[in-house]
Amino acid sequence: MKKNNLLHSSAKNLEFQDITFAVANASNDGIIIINPEHKISFVNKVLKRWLNWSDINTNKWIGETDKKAYKEFLEISEQQTILESLFKSVEGKQNLIAESIDIKLKNPIYKYMNIYTAPIYHKTEGYKGRVWIIDDQTKEKKIEKAKTEFISIASHQLRTPLTAIRGYLSMITDDQELLKQLDDDTKEFIEAANEGAVRLADIVEDLLNISRLEMGTTVVEPKKSNLKEELTKIIQNYKILAKEKDIEIKTEYKFEKDTEFKTDYSLIQHIVGNLTDNAIKYTPPQGHVTISFSIKNNLLRISIRDSGIGIPKKQQERIFEKFFRADNVRNEDFKGTGIGLYYVKSLIDSLNGEISFESKENQGTTFYISIPEK
Ligand code: ADP
Repeated sequence: MKKNNLLHSSAKNLEFQDITFAVANASNDGIIIINPEHKISFVNKVLKRWLNWSDINTNKWIGETDKKAYKEFLEISEQQTILESLFKSVEGKQNLIAESIDIKLKNPIYKYMNIYTAPIYHKTEGYKGRVWIIDDQTKEKKIEKAKTEFISIASHQLRTPLTAIRGYLSMITDDQELLKQLDDDTKEFIEAANEGAVRLADIVEDLLNISRLEMGTTVVEPKKSNLKEELTKIIQNYKILAKEKDIEIKTEYKFEKDTEFKTDYSLIQHIVGNLTDNAIKYTPPQGHVTISFSIKNNLLRISIRDSGIGIPKKQQERIFEKFFRADNVRNEDFKGTGIGLYYVKSLIDSLNGEISFESKENQGTTFYISIPEK
């Protein structure tokens, strides 16, 4: 009780402004405060330190108009246009809270920063200026980059020995004469080794594709082509897979027969392929999968509906996360890695498309995609 009183009385003697400045200086984020006359009234220690590295003397900023700070900041930023549009978006608009943006600072500071801003209001006097907060994301970005590079190197390294293993195994499984000389147990072991190698190769291929996307080395190459022909080719492989599992696949093409559509069909192949593969995998035998394609306002719309096990409601929001798998598939019947949907979502983003889904446990799932013509 006594302690509380003590704290209370000492805090009373402090000006609120002093506390605010102390907190701002202790912060890990860079902070600038601008008054209603657009003059800079405060720059915190962290920001002063960062900007000193690029020869900007922020002590000279105090009392200057915000234009000077904007201009100097633009000069050291790699993504000038993004930063410029952020500054423009709040210019003269007191209430506006700009969205945060990611920018990269040039040599020699190499910083990734997240910048956001908010107006400052006084209870009775109204608008008192604006605060800019600059959050340093460099460490997180570096870790993310290192992870992506690791996945890329590891999967590249795995590829060569895996190709050799698959090659030698298929020399045995394709050689009827040799197979005749083997007893049933040996044949079974070889078959199991072959299946494992194929699965491993698929996983490595998925990892490689993801690291390409994350490193920005995937190129989108749109090509105008006959839509129905391209889509039929993609679905063809999955008809066989479905038949083996006694699942009926129905396809609906709801557009004019000779429609031409410009997009990157190799990416569409990965998107539709992954979703169809999941629909078959997560649907028990004698189930149904319906794939429907239509065109509206230059958008290619695809829906993939299955009568399978569904996705538990409480886990639906996590379904596009990397490596996420729902509880109802974590058993021997459903093999997987949890990267397919993450990959699909990233591909759809690179085509500026959208994806959503509806699902009910034990009833089925429908994925909806729309992709604009490129
Ligand atoms: P996985 O390799 O596990 O299939 P995905 O990234 O393709 O990985 O899918 C992530 C998770 O989403 C799956 O593990 C599963 O829980 C769920 N899921 C995806 N598609 C379906 C579907 N058609 N029916 C039921 N669950 C699905």
